[in-house]
Amino acid sequence: MQTIDSTKVPYKTLYNGAKIPVIGLGTFGSDNYSAQTIAEAVKTAIKMGYRHIDCASVYGNENEIGVALQEVFAEGIVKREDLWITSKVWNDKHQEVVASCKQSLADLQLNYLDLYLVHWPFPNYHAPGCAGDARNPDSVPYNHESYMNTWAQMESLVEAGLVKNIGTSNVTIAKMKLILRDCKIKPVLNEMEIHPHFQQPELYKFMKENCVEVIGYSPIGSPGRPERDKTPEDTVDMEDPVIVAIANRLGVHPAVVCLKWAVQRGQITIPFSVKTDKMFNNLKGITEGPLTEEEMEAVSKIDKNCRLIKGQVFLWEGAKGWEDLWDLDGEIVK
Ligand code: NDP
Repeated sequence: MQTIDSTKVPYKTLYNGAKIPVIGLGTFGSDNYSAQTIAEAVKTAIKMGYRHIDCASVYGNENEIGVALQEVFAEGIVKREDLWITSKVWNDKHQEVVASCKQSLADLQLNYLDLYLVHWPFPNYHAPGCAGDARNPDSVPYNHESYMNTWAQMESLVEAGLVKNIGTSNVTIAKMKLILRDCKIKPVLNEMEIHPHFQQPELYKFMKENCVEVIGYSPIGSPGRPERDKTPEDTVDMEDPVIVAIANRLGVHPAVVCLKWAVQRGQITIPFSVKTDKMFNNLKGITEGPLTEEEMEAVSKIDKNCRLIKGQVFLWEGAKGWEDLWDLDGEIVK
């Protein structure tokens, strides 16, 4: 198997001095791959040179990934401290954050996480594999008091040494302003959807201005996302002529151009694949040849504001549509 020297992979330094590799392996199989297949991919990725793995309890594979991690430790490929392991508390555990974190640690067979995220800012959840129009009658709009109660439990995990860093995911500027105002430990980063056709420039700038780093998920446009997350209006980043032209110049797959753009823009990227060649090309891509200034400029102009992971399954009764999750007018939708 081809490998990349992991010391060639750049890091981002967070406001507290922690260093996170700018590329990690995503582990959400979008219902397309078994937990075992994804765990095998994690093992392959670490042997290949990946040092950052993006996990979550709701992906249903932390148990299998834990076995894979034990194997790479036992084989002497890496030590625990060489890796950056993220997990996330799922929406139905906002009141039981500590127990949920301990379960992830048990499943992953680790005694600390590098990063723990609140996966979504709502306690709303859906059945695995549900349809796009499924609604849970218990779903509610964002409630800041409840969120800060969850956040206080996140902070307690840092104080207990179970987690080194804590962060948010899928929050908006309006929500983040309140979280920053009321937190004791500031989020180190926010994980949010970003790809060339959905660049979220205002939210991105807001995070950076507040020293909150950014992990961009679905960085190549999530072609394998669940059916419930597909709509006829969705565009395909990898088919964009600007992306294809850069790929042709560099002799790489358009997916790799999306990742190079992401890292060069300044965000951390977490592409998913279980295919050895794709995993390798993605890792290699971010250690080689940058895009030119003109190319970066050209990609910045192809933003289509095309959100793919709309979150409609988290809507509450009475919500108008998925836009209500994203505070588009700058006010928290209640
Ligand atoms: P990505 O944008 O990473 O797309 C993954 C798909 O792209 C896979 O189907 C894969 O194909 C294909 N692909 C990967 N590399 C290449 C390549 N070099 N050439 C061609 N095709 C390629 O989408 P995801 O939605 O999976 O996002 C990545 C990760 O982000 C997730 O796995 C998860 O960890 C995280 N995430 C976090 C969320 C959050 O709420 N915080 C929400 C969504 C995702 P193949 O299947 O053939 O390998």
